[in-house]
Amino acid sequence: MRQRAARDQKRLDSGAVSSPKDLENLQREITSLAKRQGDLEDVVLEVMERRESAQERVAELTERVGSVQGRIDDATARRDAAVEEIDGEAASVTKEREVVSASVPAPLLSLYEKLRGQQGGIGAAKLYARTCQGCRQELAITELNEIRSAAPDTVVRCENCRRILVRTSESGL
Ligand SMILES: [Zn+2]
Repeated sequence: MRQRAARDQKRLDSGAVSSPKDLENLQREITSLAKRQGDLEDVVLEVMERRESAQERVAELTERVGSVQGRIDDATARRDAAVEEIDGEAASVTKEREVVSASVPAPLLSLYEKLRGQQGGIGAAKLYARTCQGCRQELAITELNEIRSAAPDTVVRCENCRRILVRTSESGL
């Protein structure tokens, strides 16, 4: 288009076109071509600006993706470490339980397992300050007297929740 405008301008300048009507047409075409060129330059400018802004957005989003990925990697590593720790703890507790249960008489162990199934996973509770730590109920005087007079190896149970009571120096007997 620029070439066409230059060619028109050259023809106009050369004086080869002599008819006033031809001159006027040529002049009009040159003006129209100049206007279209201006319009196209505006479009090119706008497209360039939009491309620049799109590139900025791409850079910004790329950075955000990187940052989110970093956080995901971090959380994944922390989760894996926690799972490993829990697995280790579970294995150690399971082993400990096996050792302890092997030393408990079979009838007592089966009573404990039965109660554990009935009482939400807790079959035995500490008697602390005259209170069953399984159901948090304070024991009645008569019950405490019975427990006090029972032999140390007698299995005593909470009258309220029926759990096995474990006596210690803090039982308040
Ligand atoms: Zn109880």
